[in-house]
Amino acid sequence: MKNIEPKDCLSQQLERNVNMSNFVINEKWCKGCGVCVALCPKKVLELKNNKVSVANEEACIRCRLCEYRCPDFAIFVKEGKA
Ligand code: SF4
Ligand code: SF4
Repeated sequence: MKNIEPKDCLSQQLERNVNMSNFVINEKWCKGCGVCVALCPKKVLELKNNKVSVANEEACIRCRLCEYRCPDFAIFVKEGKA
């Protein structure tokens, strides 16, 4: 039987994520608390059906406050130019 490495579990998990151009959102982990929506200085994010959603991606300055403050590690900002 093949051993499953932790990194394999993570990569399988990431495959189930919602991938947008500048964000990786794990809808399974998002509990819709709205912390990221409230903290985003550019009003990029919104809640839809109790999950975070990207409403205005062009305005994102990649400050990563949403990522740093999410208590559930459900949103990640991809590397790249602001
Ligand atoms: S802070 Fe995290 S858990 Fe809360 S709405 Fe945003 S992504 Fe979801
Ligand atoms: S990186 Fe900053 S500007 Fe972009 S969505 Fe997150 S909090 Fe908002």
